[in-house]
Amino acid sequence: MIEQAVRIGTFAGIPVRIHWTFLLIIAYFVISGLTAGHSWEMIAVEIVFVLTIFVCVVLHEFGHALTARRFNIKTEDIILLPIGGVARLRNMPDKPTQELLVAIMGPMVNLVIAILIFIVISMNSGMDYWSSILGSEGLTMSWNHFFPILMITNIALLVFNMIPAFPMDGGRVLRALLAMWLGKLNATKWATRIGQVICIILVGFGIWQNAWTMALIGVFIFMSAGQEYRSVVVESLIKNRTLGMCARKLTEYLPEYQSVREAMQLIISSGQSSLPVIDLNGQFIGYVSGHKIVQANKENPDLRVKELCTQEYGIMHHSTPLMEVIQYFRTHQPFVLVKDDLGTTTHYVDPEVVDQCMKMS
Ligand SMILES: [Zn+2]
Repeated sequence: MIEQAVRIGTFAGIPVRIHWTFLLIIAYFVISGLTAGHSWEMIAVEIVFVLTIFVCVVLHEFGHALTARRFNIKTEDIILLPIGGVARLRNMPDKPTQELLVAIMGPMVNLVIAILIFIVISMNSGMDYWSSILGSEGLTMSWNHFFPILMITNIALLVFNMIPAFPMDGGRVLRALLAMWLGKLNATKWATRIGQVICIILVGFGIWQNAWTMALIGVFIFMSAGQEYRSVVVESLIKNRTLGMCARKLTEYLPEYQSVREAMQLIISSGQSSLPVIDLNGQFIGYVSGHKIVQANKENPDLRVKELCTQEYGIMHHSTPLMEVIQYFRTHQPFVLVKDDLGTTTHYVDPEVVDQCMKMS
């Protein structure tokens, strides 16, 4: 989805991309305007308004991105989708105060825009202007009401983003505040729970008041709320582990001269996703994935295991942080032999072993 975004420019060194579906919004306003019998002028106001809102959304994202830059966090790009903007930060800061600042500076941009509009209008038209438009006249979209509506929309963006539930900015602010004395993991747990309660209130209130958009937003946020907690749990599990804690003993081997047909038995009985391979002298020479064996068994069951064996693999000390091993799987081979202090290798890990190790905790 993100690959279909077109770069419209680079500001402060950060590329801004726009997704093609964005054009659908413009089309929507033209079509719905015409069917409702609006004049072309009114449709033009609406389109200019939508574009201005999206400029505000981009500025909001720059609020996050430029604050993150102060803490040496790079932003990949800013992408505009019809549902809003995303600043793709490489990572989030670990220090709660820094996360708090990065999260809050987006909504603060909307607050500043709203305040600026308020000041400029008040200086030009006087304070009476506000009582006139909020009173009998009411606000309808026109060039005259363009800026007051823009101000209100920015306040709405501020309130919406500050809903204290993940994945909203408000959820991050809440987590950062709690993390100052609870630690990141517990803070995320509580922030998630509080966020879910707020979502239930939003949905209930939305249904009661027939405010369906609010109810839908509540459902959407509720469904995404648990994700952040799960990823923080995994992150903290990985962070405190070493390779040695997850390693599995090398007990079952496939001799290289065995046929794929014979190897199938061991693959099935061991239930492992990859198996070490030994030569005639019983020396370890590499590994073969169960998937490869199953595949080869369909095509050519007489093939030797040797032909399928991958002889490139990692060898790492048992005290290596698990995070490094996972990184190695991604960039190199999905098989690592574990070396003990004497330099002997009696254990191994592959992605499946790591997965199981995570589940057991
Ligand atoms: Zn934001």
